[in-house]
Amino acid sequence: MAIKITEECINCGACEPECPNNAIYEGGVEWRVADGTTVKGSFVLLDGTLIDADTANAPISVDTYYIVPNKCTECQGFHEEPQCAAVCPVDCCVPDEMYVETVEQLMQKKEKLHV
Ligand code: SF4
Ligand code: SF4
Repeated sequence: MAIKITEECINCGACEPECPNNAIYEGGVEWRVADGTTVKGSFVLLDGTLIDADTANAPISVDTYYIVPNKCTECQGFHEEPQCAAVCPVDCCVPDEMYVETVEQLMQKKEKLHV
């Protein structure tokens, strides 16, 4: 499953540069599929919505750093464990029960982001 950041986040910024998918954003910052990935043109989100990879999407959180479920692969294909959770000083990067995914699904997501 994807990882999420809870409201315990102290906005230290340590996790953001560690994400291999550029799935982590500062609160209030718009996110794009194309940021830190090789995706160009059309992209189908987890809910089936078709968007352009360069579309600026509304921030998921304004007050704390946040993770985009459509870009988080739980670090599958890159690292042994979620890097955000490994570096977070307050342990606020936790599994997101809203996005339960198998390792195979996470690897497919990774392959969609880095073609
Ligand atoms: S688990 Fe990995 S891919 Fe997901 S947000 Fe954290 S660092 Fe990024
Ligand atoms: S490392 Fe943890 S506390 Fe720091 S910005 Fe990321 S989620 Fe927030």
